[in-house]
Amino acid sequence: METIKVKADLQCPFCGHCKVVKVGSHRKAVNCASCKQAVFLSWATSIEGQLDSRGYYFRAYEPFNIRKINQEFQDVFVEDYPYWLR
Ligand SMILES: [Zn+2]
Repeated sequence: METIKVKADLQCPFCGHCKVVKVGSHRKAVNCASCKQAVFLSWATSIEGQLDSRGYYFRAYEPFNIRKINQEFQDVFVEDYPYWLR
């Protein structure tokens, strides 16, 4: 499958490095080119996959927090479970 590259507005929360980066649309995080820390990719708008007015697909403003993301996946998992297995 071909990887679609999209524009992300990186404003590193660790070192303040600002850059427009191109990332695969399936990515969850991007590494800052300056400090190498992982920065979380959130949607540029409230709607998944929609570009904002400047053409960005992602915003990378927050530290990548694996625990928080796992928690979100767990919540989804529980809701998708059939009620008799909860
Ligand atoms: Zn940085």
